Amino acid sequence: MAGISKILENNKKWVSERNAKDPNFFKNLANGQKPKYLFIGCSDSRVPASGITGTGPGEMFVHRNIANMVVHTDMNLLSVLQYAVEVLGVQDILVVGHYGCGGVAAAASNKQYGLIDNWLVNIRDVIRAHETEYLRIKDDAQRARRLVELNVIEQVRNLAKTNIIQNAMRGDNPPRLHGLVYDIADGVLKDLRVDGEEMMHEMEHIYATEAVAAEPTQQADNQANSYEGPTEDPAEVVPGFEAKAKK
Ligand SMILES: [Zn+2]
Repeated sequence: MAGISKILENNKKWVSERNAKDPNFFKNLANGQKPKYLFIGCSDSRVPASGITGTGPGEMFVHRNIANMVVHTDMNLLSVLQYAVEVLGVQDILVVGHYGCGGVAAAASNKQYGLIDNWLVNIRDVIRAHETEYLRIKDDAQRARRLVELNVIEQVRNLAKTNIIQNAMRGDNPPRLHGLVYDIADGVLKDLRVDGEEMMHEMEHIYATEAVAAEPTQQADNQANSYEGPTEDPAEVVPGFEAKAKK
C-alpha cells in the first residue's frame, strides 16, 4: 500500500475496535482531558510515549524533541509545561531518555551537523558539568549509556529551574518530577530515582524566584508629571529636522 493509505486503513480499524469495546469511548474523550502525566521524551520513532508506558488516549500529555531536552528558551516546551502544570494539573512529570539516542551520540562526537549543533550544545553542557565522571568511564558503550542517564538527570534539573515548577511546588498539589531511561534493546523503562524536590532545594539559593507585584517607581511618577504634551515645532522633537526641511 502506497503513501499514507495504510495509516488511514489502520485508523478505520482502530476506530471500529474501540467502538466495539466501548461505544462511548470517543464521546467521553471529546468532553475534555485530565491527564495525570506529562511525558517529555525523544522524537526517536522507537520510543512511542503511550506504547512504552501502557497509557491510552487522555492519560498522558506529551512533548517530544531531539534527545528529550528541557531548554529554557524553547517556547514550545515551556508552553506545554505551563499548560500541563497550571491548567491540566498533571501529577507526575516524566523526562524519558533512551539508550542509543542519536542526539546524545552526536553531542558526544566532535563532528559538525549544522543547525542542530545549537541544540546539541545543551547536551555538551551536560558533559561539561559531569566531565570527571564521564571521562573516567573507559568503555565507549558504557560511557554513551551513562551520558544518556546524565542528560535525563540534567533535564529534570532544568525543569526544577523554571518558575513554572517552582510556583507549582509551592501550591497545594505539587507535581513529582521523574527521570527515566528506556532501553530500546529490551523494552525496559528504568527509573533513575531522581529526587526533583531535593534537586530544587539544593539549587534554590541560585534559582529560586518569587513573583513580585509591579509598583510604579518614584522616577517614573516624576517623568509622568513633567510631561507637557506634544510640541508644535518638529525641530524641537528631532534635532536637525528644520535644516533638512529647508533644503
Ligand atoms: Zn533519542
